[in-house]
Amino acid sequence: MSQKKIKIECLQCGVCCYFFDISTLNKPQFERCKHLRDDGKCANYENRPKVCRDFQPDEICVLISTLSFEDKIKVLKKIYGVK
Ligand code: SF4
Ligand code: SF4
Repeated sequence: MSQKKIKIECLQCGVCCYFFDISTLNKPQFERCKHLRDDGKCANYENRPKVCRDFQPDEICVLISTLSFEDKIKVLKKIYGVK
């Protein structure tokens, strides 16, 4: 029996646009992307790089959704094994 994957909507918390390094944007890890707007949306949405297009919201987004931004980062560091 095949299991249907539930589609998880982006909650526009902006954490992934801070947490990951994105070489095509010259964005180091733990630096806010210059395209990230204050409302959590991407100001470069139509031209965002492939790595951003390919990134899909997942269960982790839901898991951390009620946490503060700082605590979201702490949890992601643990999940991804980053010091
Ligand atoms: S961490 Fe998840 S919910 Fe937050 S902006 Fe990125 S994809 Fe969206
Ligand atoms: S280009 Fe847009 S989607 Fe990609 S990291 Fe920056 S703000 Fe986020």
